[in-house]
Amino acid sequence: MARYTDSVCRLCRAERTKLFLKGERCYGPKCPISKKRNPPGKAPRYRMKKMSDYGIQLREKQKVKRMYGMLEKQFRIFFHKAERMQGKTGDNLITLLEQRLDNIVYRMRFASSRSMARQIVSHGHVMVNGKKVNISSYLVSINDTVEIRDSSKKMVVIKESLREYTRAGVVPWLNVDPDNMKGEVKALPIKSDVTDLAEIKEQLIVELYSR
Ligand code: SF4
Repeated sequence: MARYTDSVCRLCRAERTKLFLKGERCYGPKCPISKKRNPPGKAPRYRMKKMSDYGIQLREKQKVKRMYGMLEKQFRIFFHKAERMQGKTGDNLITLLEQRLDNIVYRMRFASSRSMARQIVSHGHVMVNGKKVNISSYLVSINDTVEIRDSSKKMVVIKESLREYTRAGVVPWLNVDPDNMKGEVKALPIKSDVTDLAEIKEQLIVELYSR
């Protein structure tokens, strides 16, 4: 599978917004996007062009895709699933993305970023409802429990990530027992519950795929 190996901060600078790709570190003072909003590469005066409607829609889709670390094909599958659900497609898309197991592991503070959460899941350190699941895109439902396997509970990266739980807690739609490295999904989030997506206009993604 194709993998992006350059600095992830360049992706934020290309989109000129915070994509929170380094997890909690993105809230710190070292985030380069807080200092300069120009894209990487050439000086901004050469790069700043007025964008077409298509360009604006495309950039919006790229932002969300990059935030969740997904490739185009998989993102499109999620979009079509959202289309088939009742309600607004844009809202459904956000809810589906938040239901991904790697995102839930990140939101439960078992990993400090979504990319680390993906690694923890794919290496088989996570159980859903008592069974090992190593598929990052697995969709977690209400009342599902997500926990770190007993054999993985001594992992330093997970313990360090959980320090953030002590500092900042978790989102209100999840319950986490940090001592047992276990959590439960109390509800499914809507867009307004997802504060790091505040600047995202999901309607533009719907317009892009409806062309
Ligand atoms: Fe880097 Fe995070 Fe800031 Fe993006 S939001 S530029 S990943 S520190």
